[in-house]
Amino acid sequence: MRVLVVEDDISLGGVVQRGLGEDGHAVDLERTLAGARRAVAINAYHLVVLDLGLPDGDGLALCRELHENERPPRVLVLTARDATGDKVLGLDAGADDYLTKPFDFAELGARVRALLRRPDDARSPLLRVGDIELDPAAHAVRRRGVMVPLTAREFAMLHFLIDRKGQVVTRTELLEAVWDSNYDGLSNVVDVHVANVRRKLDLPGNPAPIETVRGVGYRIED
Ligand code: CA
Repeated sequence: MRVLVVEDDISLGGVVQRGLGEDGHAVDLERTLAGARRAVAINAYHLVVLDLGLPDGDGLALCRELHENERPPRVLVLTARDATGDKVLGLDAGADDYLTKPFDFAELGARVRALLRRPDDARSPLLRVGDIELDPAAHAVRRRGVMVPLTAREFAMLHFLIDRKGQVVTRTELLEAVWDSNYDGLSNVVDVHVANVRRKLDLPGNPAPIETVRGVGYRIED
């Protein structure tokens, strides 16, 4: 999933970004309200982890703005203020959950998983392409009923392709959806992951239905 972390504490922000990245999310980090506003204007996030005390304003303002979207992301508020009043304000502003600093990363990870699993307006039904079934809530993929073990990034890639079944998806779109904006690793990382997903989905006589569209990207078809 695509996650935005808004936190002005550089070391805490870095820890959260790395930890969620290791859990397989594509994580962007912003340190100011202005930076966060720019990021949400450009990218579609599933979750925003939001500090309230930011150098140029209150995170709750962003929380309210996000909820004017048609499909607002989940919002997990991080706050050093443990006064009940602040928590109530956060929830009134549309936050889905909050965590009081200091917190264990394990707890943050668990809250994030719970939020991203929470069904919302039937956005996460089983997805099917031919004999492949992807269950976004359970993070499971089956082909002809048999579990296909995918890594978190492979799963995210397949999910993105299936969401756009029949359409050509460019390498850049996949890179932006599954990795984060600052990814500067191997340029062929998308191709390597597509190859791995294909290999895992291949059955004798029944290759994975992921087509390469030369010079453009990939397409999954029924
Ligand atoms: Ca802060």
